[in-house]
Amino acid sequence: MTKTAFITGITGQDGPYLAKILLNKGYQVYGMVRNMPTPNLYGISFLNIKDKVQLIFGDLSNIKSIEDALLEVKPDEIYHLASQSSVINSWSNCLNTLSTNADSSTPFLEYVKKNPKTKLFLAQSSELFGKNLENHEKNNFEPCSPYGVAKLASYHLGKIFREKYDLFIVNGLFYIHESPLRNINFFSRKVSQTVARIAAGVEKEIVLGNIDLYRDVGFAGDYMEVVYLALQREVPDDYIIATGQCTLLRDFVKEAFAEVGIDDYEKYLRFEKSYFRKNDPVKIMGFPQQTFQKLNWKPNTTVIEIVKQMLSHDIEFIKNPQNLESQCVTPYSSMLQNRS
Ligand code: NAP
Repeated sequence: MTKTAFITGITGQDGPYLAKILLNKGYQVYGMVRNMPTPNLYGISFLNIKDKVQLIFGDLSNIKSIEDALLEVKPDEIYHLASQSSVINSWSNCLNTLSTNADSSTPFLEYVKKNPKTKLFLAQSSELFGKNLENHEKNNFEPCSPYGVAKLASYHLGKIFREKYDLFIVNGLFYIHESPLRNINFFSRKVSQTVARIAAGVEKEIVLGNIDLYRDVGFAGDYMEVVYLALQREVPDDYIIATGQCTLLRDFVKEAFAEVGIDDYEKYLRFEKSYFRKNDPVKIMGFPQQTFQKLNWKPNTTVIEIVKQMLSHDIEFIKNPQNLESQCVTPYSSMLQNRS
């Protein structure tokens, strides 16, 4: 029988990759979009699945809209990926972050409580560990941003509902992951777009903060495989979703320039003091060994391949904007103009 999946965050980076995986496996896929005149369908257009994903309205700030959407779809599996996903913005938008990232889990939890055959995935973050950079498998969480605190509340809600009502609820603790669909306000995308523009002669420099930091960087498409696999196991569990390796951010920048044939990349860099974040840990690395073992999974895509994909996308856009624009409901160029 065809399974039905309900995905929140279909207009973000991860939702479209997950939708593609599920469609390939024969699922009927519903993607939740906010009630706005032009939802951002760029991701599902880019992955050529726009005509296959059924859109349904729902807003995390309006619990009734979520309840109605779930009642209409009656999903077998819910993948709750939507969130206020910026750690930096969570400081200026604390209340909204708490309600979007913590409270918004409750209608999904209530739904699976009433419909215990439905499985639920909740997207959490390495930010739960916060200041604690060692031994992540012991779950000693010390979040140090409103984003991390909100995700921790959602994590614990998922866990206590799972334990009290014996439900299939999974928490996935994501480390950084990238793709050509990465939101334009994040480091990797800023780098790939600006480098593409420097190569095209329309930009002269890239302004950065501290790039001598090590981060665990994966590919969104790979991580969505984990998300799918986690809901197919016999038992629900929590998973660290990471590569277990570190990338120096400076190397990411260097590779991006190398991709457009620029070796003396340092002359294009300008460092802005205000972009350096106090207390930014030098190294953040995941410990995904249990995930590798339990799900028989390993990431496929190297950081160099991620850089190549992102650059190839951003170079193509500069050369032939109409090719990408024509597929999309929200013009890519207007997304760029809205970049903060
Ligand atoms: P993203 O690209 O920023 O997408 C966020 C999604 O949430 C968008 O579809 C957005 O919809 C939706 N959303 C935000 N507020 C909403 C609301 N009030 N109602 C309905 N939808 C709302 O995020 P992502 O990179 O795909 O990340 C997926 C999940 O993984 C998130 O929970 C994120 O916190 C977590 N995570 C990601 C990373 C990473 O490196 N990417 C790392 C750790 C954790 P609109 O288009 O309408 O704004």
